[in-house]
Amino acid sequence: MQKKIISFEYEEYESKNELNDLDKELIKHALVAVTQASAQFSHFHVGVAARLSDGSIHLGSNKENTSITNCAEQTLLLHLQATNNDFAIESIAVTFQNMNPNTTSDFPITPCGKCRQILLEDEQRSKSPMRIIMTGQSGKVFIAPSVLSMLPLAYGEDFLQHNK
Ligand SMILES: [Zn+2]
Repeated sequence: MQKKIISFEYEEYESKNELNDLDKELIKHALVAVTQASAQFSHFHVGVAARLSDGSIHLGSNKENTSITNCAEQTLLLHLQATNNDFAIESIAVTFQNMNPNTTSDFPITPCGKCRQILLEDEQRSKSPMRIIMTGQSGKVFIAPSVLSMLPLAYGEDFLQHNK
């Protein structure tokens, strides 16, 4: 038996002010996406903005109705997949505003487990790392260099093709 360690490296910034202009701009777009969320059940509004390799920016937000809850990352990816034959997300900014009483929105939000898997499969499809920028309305910013770095020992398409 061997014990193994997988380490996870990410950048932590005290505020958005420390970021480069491209990342600041992407967060601004994600904050706009937050205002487009439909979260009448959780009251937890999430917005994402992705910059593609062609420089274009695309938004997503969480959508809730009585039978379905879709995370912001998933609405964004479904939109991109429905309207593009091929694309590569260079960076994605994720942010939120909690509308529940007595809560704050001043810390970095991180993608849920299901979204990490979905984003990872898109990162692997495009064969280029997707930076993940995580923040709140204010406060610290985390930046991970890729989705894979946030999902060690990930389940993947390769498993389906392993032969005996
Ligand atoms: Zn999610």
